[in-house]
Amino acid sequence: MRAMVLIQPGEPLQLMQLPIPQPQPHQLLIKVETCGVCRTDLHIRDGELAQPALPLILGHQIVGIVEEVGSSVTGYQKGKRVGIPWLGGCCDVCDYCLAGNENLCDHAVFTGYQIQGGFAEYCVAAADFCFPIPSEYSPLEAAPLLCGGLIGYRALRMTGDAKRLGFYGFGSSAHLLIQVAHYQGRKVYVFTRQKGDEAQQLAKQLGAFWIGTSDEMPPDELEAAIIFAPEGKLVPAALKSVAKGGKVICAGIHMSDIPSFPYALLYGERELRSVTNLTRRDGKEFLALAPKIPIHSHVNIYPLEQANQALDNLKEGKVSGSVVLQII
Ligand SMILES: [Zn+2]
Ligand SMILES: [Zn+2]
Repeated sequence: MRAMVLIQPGEPLQLMQLPIPQPQPHQLLIKVETCGVCRTDLHIRDGELAQPALPLILGHQIVGIVEEVGSSVTGYQKGKRVGIPWLGGCCDVCDYCLAGNENLCDHAVFTGYQIQGGFAEYCVAAADFCFPIPSEYSPLEAAPLLCGGLIGYRALRMTGDAKRLGFYGFGSSAHLLIQVAHYQGRKVYVFTRQKGDEAQQLAKQLGAFWIGTSDEMPPDELEAAIIFAPEGKLVPAALKSVAKGGKVICAGIHMSDIPSFPYALLYGERELRSVTNLTRRDGKEFLALAPKIPIHSHVNIYPLEQANQALDNLKEGKVSGSVVLQII
């Protein structure tokens, strides 16, 4: 099979011919149709996340067709379309797992990080961590739902019932989540890098209530804000724009250092919280909700061989919405 492989963090991925993996008894072999490109892939390629399993096939928003079913797997047949998210396994016995917080498990493993991912023609995945893809979705539209969508959904849930909601950064996750927020009757205030950039245009198209840059103050005090961009300096900016009792949620896996800020920004019972990974419950809930709204993904499509280009364009903010590799 063809695969785009990370040999050395900080270097571009390399196109390689590799053997098709064999599924273990608890796994599925999947013929990959599409794989979303996430900011986390960029952090792994650029060496900002520690200890990836090298050599590594990136990609954790995988949509494909079951080609072979492991001997102990039940509930999946050959030919079924499935999605594979970031969480690829957990221990099931630690205090976190037993309390339903498998996203925090110390022994969790992640797709395209410790487990070979989907920037390839085939991959294997633990059947228990795969999701059936709703029939309403094409493989291209479904891929971004698997990370941008469902980890974003976890962040959105943490904002409680906040009606005035700020989004710092407006990429894959935010453009999906604004659709959920509107469905739930909330107003979304969008903050991006630059006036009139592509992200702002997409935010306008999707009906954002107010659009500005991240150094501007919104016209109203917000009840909550989600920071999607990996910039620590947005934390004090977001705290400044939320009202007393407001929440600021950091949705990324990586963030540059947060500059020091006066306690007054946090005082007034403001909360600051991060989002870590996902649970299978998040996935089930979100994938059941998505077709009801229905959420549409705005996708930029690249062939497998152009994975580096796709990552670079994502890094430079040259694309709006989601980036997806089309494998077949
Ligand atoms: Zn991701
Ligand atoms: Zn565990």
